[in-house]
Amino acid sequence: MAGQKETHEFKTEVQQLMKIIINSLYSNREIFLRELISNASDAIDRLQFKSQTDPDILGTDTEFKIKLTADKDEKTLEISDNGIGMTYDEVMENIGTIAKSGTAAFLEAIEKSKSENALTPELIGQFGVGFYSSFIVADHVTLITRAAGSEKGVKWMSAGDGSYTIEEVDKESRGTSIVLKLKPAAKDEQDFTEEWVLRQIVKQHSDFVSYPITMDIERDEPVTDDDGKPIEGKTTHVVREETLNSMKAIWTRNKTDVTEEEYTEFYKHLAHDWTEPLTRIHFRLEGTTEYTALLYIPSKAPFDMFNHDRRHGVQLYCRRVFIMDDCKELIPEYFRFVKGVVDAADLNLNVSREILQQDRLVMNIRKNLVKKIFELLSGMEQEQYEKFYTEFGSVLKEGIHSDPGKQDKIAELIRYKTTRSDGKLVALKDYVANMKFGQKYIYYITGDNLSAILNSPHLEKLKEKDYEVLLMTDPVDEWVVQSLTEYDGKKLCSAEKGDLDIDEIDDKKKNEFSDLFDFIKSNLEEKIKEVKPSLRLKDSVACLAGDNHDMSAYMEKILKSSGQEMPPVKRILELNMDHPVLVGIKALFEKDKDNAALKEYSKLLLDMAVISEGGKLENPARFSRKVGEMMASALEKPA
Ligand code: ADP
Repeated sequence: MAGQKETHEFKTEVQQLMKIIINSLYSNREIFLRELISNASDAIDRLQFKSQTDPDILGTDTEFKIKLTADKDEKTLEISDNGIGMTYDEVMENIGTIAKSGTAAFLEAIEKSKSENALTPELIGQFGVGFYSSFIVADHVTLITRAAGSEKGVKWMSAGDGSYTIEEVDKESRGTSIVLKLKPAAKDEQDFTEEWVLRQIVKQHSDFVSYPITMDIERDEPVTDDDGKPIEGKTTHVVREETLNSMKAIWTRNKTDVTEEEYTEFYKHLAHDWTEPLTRIHFRLEGTTEYTALLYIPSKAPFDMFNHDRRHGVQLYCRRVFIMDDCKELIPEYFRFVKGVVDAADLNLNVSREILQQDRLVMNIRKNLVKKIFELLSGMEQEQYEKFYTEFGSVLKEGIHSDPGKQDKIAELIRYKTTRSDGKLVALKDYVANMKFGQKYIYYITGDNLSAILNSPHLEKLKEKDYEVLLMTDPVDEWVVQSLTEYDGKKLCSAEKGDLDIDEIDDKKKNEFSDLFDFIKSNLEEKIKEVKPSLRLKDSVACLAGDNHDMSAYMEKILKSSGQEMPPVKRILELNMDHPVLVGIKALFEKDKDNAALKEYSKLLLDMAVISEGGKLENPARFSRKVGEMMASALEKPA
């Protein structure tokens, strides 16, 4: 481990990511400072949180601050903090390695957008570039850090060229310092060693950071005489530490006093996001539970939305004193897209996460926040709401399953494309309002491929009746339909399971076919549990269906792809008694039960059912060969 200097390669993804960041954000490069200041501010936050249960950790270094030091001659800019710092292992883990889930997907999206020539900073915003943005402005970066409670420091250096070095060093004080060796600035570019440039950037992007961002300002000041009057021609060189930010907590201010830009910048700092938020609410609750909240909904889902150890959620403050980051006790999981700040007036300052869960005040705030967020969502304009829903709908839907008490509220907020909506999203309320005369159920179908389910044979009869069907393509929908069995007194009914209750079976016909069906089943014994006449099909000859409580094909696929071991689910082969193919097979069967083709036809019927719902054949080559043979023999016959 530590001891001497080691050289490591950046992970390939990091190298790719750095290139993208440097190229695409060059015209925006001043924001590297916001990123580093946000990291520094987080590091102090985390130390504060730790010191609530371990006050000794601070030692004598209790005046939190973030310090900028520019050196014009050396062309360097240093950003240092006395926050929590990092250990050797933490540096190894956090810098140079991307453990973030979704990196590969992100890089793929970037690749794609590049080929479409539309690479925007917004795309990067979903990822959060943080520390690596240093390399937009620097061609050499040195990070020296000492973790709280640690004796030794760590030095990390890189020229951003694919490798970095790391070694143990002595560092006097706790915290992290990052020294950027700046790239030469072109004539019309900002010089990040200029005092006024730094002032302006801090003011614009980091004004509300709750710790002082300081800088030593050097000046020649006039020398004064004993009466305090300046002595002409005499000056002295002085250095004063100035604080560049107002530290004004935005959420404590009146709504009307905060500008749009301030709200946006605060969000970007808080959420480590580059993109503007979609919407926000800012309110104060008075009475027995007193608190202020400033909450945002991002416009883009981060790539780690489904990674449960994500950070940067809702921060908890008590009268402007930071308590903790990502306070999960304040917001249910299905609202985890919400970012922001909650400042409670009467919180016990020495709360631990464990206590917080049972804290009455926190529980009340949570209840109230949930209500406010529901109001925010249901009050959105359609266009904005659809933007929200496209990004976060899957997260919201988790609540149907996880919070039965709020199921009704969430059911009002969910939207689906349908067989009749032409790609538009439809609310359940509107679905019900448009139900046909005599239609009893809310029909739905699940699957991962929209066009496959839209054209699924299961929907043929429903389409004939002009009954609308909800198209559910999100894995979470399988859980939604398990919990949400009814809406507005109407039962939800799967188009591929059980009885659709739209037609009666013709018993006479069924009897005529029953020997053939038994025969077909005997040829497919292990694969299916039953062969039945279908009430779903109109144009197709076969489909696979389930009993009411059977697992759907999509659910089976989801569980399998998540690595769950399970026996194959046997389904029902449904056949269309009116279809010419089946009528023909029946005629052949009645004429010659031993005809070898009947066995083949049985297998082909099953294969056709699998293919028509977008499934995978066990033996596609055999299917293709058989169809080939049949085509050849049909073509041989003179027309
Ligand atoms: P992000 O901040 O989005 O997680 P970064 O790449 O900026 O991504 O930082 C990676 C990690 O490195 C941070 O999550 C944090 O744990 C650590 N880190 C960065 N800057 C500091 C700092 N000034 N002090 C302590 N830890 C830091």
